[in-house]
Amino acid sequence: MTDKTITLNNGVQLPSLGLGVLQSEGGEATAAISSALTGGYRLIDTAAAYFNEREIGQGIRDSGADRAEVFLTTKLWMTDYGFDSALRAFDTSAAKLGVDYLDLYLLHWPLPANFSQTVAGYKAAERLLADGRVRAIGVANFKPEHLRALVRETDVVPAVNQIELHPNFQQPEQLAVHRELGIVTQAWSPIGGVYGWAGENGALPPLQNDTIRVIADAHGKTPAQVILRWHLQEGRSAIPKSVTPARIAENFAVFDFELTAADLTSIDALDTGVRGAIDPDLATPEVIDLTIEAA
Ligand code: NDP
Repeated sequence: MTDKTITLNNGVQLPSLGLGVLQSEGGEATAAISSALTGGYRLIDTAAAYFNEREIGQGIRDSGADRAEVFLTTKLWMTDYGFDSALRAFDTSAAKLGVDYLDLYLLHWPLPANFSQTVAGYKAAERLLADGRVRAIGVANFKPEHLRALVRETDVVPAVNQIELHPNFQQPEQLAVHRELGIVTQAWSPIGGVYGWAGENGALPPLQNDTIRVIADAHGKTPAQVILRWHLQEGRSAIPKSVTPARIAENFAVFDFELTAADLTSIDALDTGVRGAIDPDLATPEVIDLTIEAA
């Protein structure tokens, strides 16, 4: 059976399955966190740029879970790249969340147009790690060339790279680089939610795929459960988002069945090689224009 945790390159245990909260807002976000934690989730994935860190912190407190039992991730937004600004942004996120440490701090995008600022932001994350304010550091949306450049210029190999990954877009070359460097892959939009907020890209969303439906029926599971189980069996972490209590529970009920090798091969064959969201090389603060407010 698949483990419920994955060991990061610094020995920290990452819960393999967590709750994403992009576009989870207000009381709905707070309730989703509380529902997830009482239902067994131990990993929550937010970001400064999701504008819900206060609600997430409230949800953790409402759930009654011990802070030490919750693996909490947030992300540094691009406008705060640079050493001093990244340290300030971390304090802002921690204050909004109402915590004194984070479990995982990620740089949200690589920002190739200003990579020196990206590196400076990552060096701030290294400082936070050394100071014990965060238990692991990593990145999101870094393509192989960004990872290699970062590793050349810094001391701590990212523990995690959080990337778009679902049956329609599987990035096998990217995963090979993660394996080579010792970086854990965490799938965002793991069940294909990207098509809901970035628009259809010509491919049928994975939850509507017939191959996945047939596998789900064979196991008495839902398409979402099959896709999440596929991520876990291939050794990845996944962070499906939902604000719907029944779906939050459904997405976590994936530790009681096993996909066959043939199931995995069939899902692997669905890769279209086409991403649903923006190419990380094009994601700049001008294109994704957000202002992170003070704590
Ligand atoms: P997901 O693949 O998690 O899909 C979420 C969507 O699917 C929501 O519309 C949700 O609806 C719906 N859904 C959830 N469970 C089920 C189910 N069992 N059956 C049917 N529909 C379901 O997409 P996201 O894009 O939200 O990605 C997940 C997380 O990844 C984000 O929340 C965020 O934390 C992270 N992320 C990171 C990015 C990065 O740049 N680092 C970029 C994008 C996402 P509802 O909520 O209404 O139930």
